Amino acid sequence: MAEMMRAIVKTTPGRGAELLEVPRPEPGAGDALIRVIATSICGTDHHIYEWNAWAEGRIGPRIPQTMGHEFCGVVEAVGEGVDQIAVGDRVSAETHIVCHTCIPCRRGQYEVCLNTSILGVDRDGCFADYIVVPAENLWKTPPELSDNVASALEPLGNAVHTAMAEPLEGKRVLVTGIGPIGAFSVGVAKAHGATEVFASEPNPYRRSLAGVMGADHLIDPIATSLTGTIMELTGDGVDAVLEMSGHPTAIQDAISCVIPGGHIAQLGLPPDRVTLDLNELIFKGIRYYGIVGRKIWETWEEMDRLLAAGELDISPVLTHTLELEAFEEGIRLMEAGECGKVVLTVS
Ligand code: NAD
Ligand code: ZN
Repeated sequence: MAEMMRAIVKTTPGRGAELLEVPRPEPGAGDALIRVIATSICGTDHHIYEWNAWAEGRIGPRIPQTMGHEFCGVVEAVGEGVDQIAVGDRVSAETHIVCHTCIPCRRGQYEVCLNTSILGVDRDGCFADYIVVPAENLWKTPPELSDNVASALEPLGNAVHTAMAEPLEGKRVLVTGIGPIGAFSVGVAKAHGATEVFASEPNPYRRSLAGVMGADHLIDPIATSLTGTIMELTGDGVDAVLEMSGHPTAIQDAISCVIPGGHIAQLGLPPDRVTLDLNELIFKGIRYYGIVGRKIWETWEEMDRLLAAGELDISPVLTHTLELEAFEEGIRLMEAGECGKVVLTVS
């Protein structure tokens, strides 16, 4: 009989998830079995938990399925043909499993692979004692990083990828939306030499996180006009916007706040179609980047460099650590907006 393990499983098409005993997976050829140490909760996990229309369409056909994708752990066993990683290595994982055969993959643009399969979305995830991952997706984590920090490298990679759309050195940078990824972005923009960082966020708890991460100006876009405030503070606008909210108002504000010739990097995902003043974007000559996932592996290399060099410390954003069993308390904190990143301790 297979050994059993704990897992948080999406079992029914509706709000919720269950902590269950399920069989421990076995690594196939090219795979590694990881004993999960810590895992952090993403907005995507929240969407799966609450079961919105996206979750219904993407995950509905596959339930029951184990949730979670952000983690660090230790390699427990490897399948046939795995030699780049060894039992005992502490690892995190690139959560996008790519095909290597489509045209974007052949061009090295793995982040836009046409056949991407995502951990915890398209297959079983890491809210469990063990997870099986293709060994090629694993990234050895520098020993100086804490387990909590190592568990949050994947979302940090979203921030680093967005910040790397263009060099930020010497630039005035606006970050809109200070969820965990926006908060990471404030630190990354500073580490990349931004001269001034402006953070826009309606939630006071999260706004203050931006301050802790080094933002020079904290702006409440509900209480004041964001564009008016930015123009007052800069005279002519910011050089770059990292859009991390997906909120339609923030996206239009990004266009209005950026100086002609500047750029916007859009990571935030709007829940629906958005109406924008594209003439403003065109006549200001703005470069607008859509950012998805992480560059494999350039983003990971830059993350390691920033963290190992001590140029970036993301630990203030990891505001809560709970046991795996207390997963629903983590969801509650996220829904109340009373947290940065919530980390679950597994082993
Ligand atoms: P989050 O939901 O925790 O944070 C979003 C923040 O935006 C919240 O704190 C919210 O209060 C704030 N906000 C709402 N309206 C705003 C406004 N008008 N102006 C400024 N801020 C506003 O999300 P997160 O986990 O930090 O992720 C950030 C965004 O990136 C989300 O939209 C998420 O869906 C998206 N995302 C995209 C990718 C990708 O590959 N493109 C990957 C991960 C996450
Ligand atoms: Zn591909």
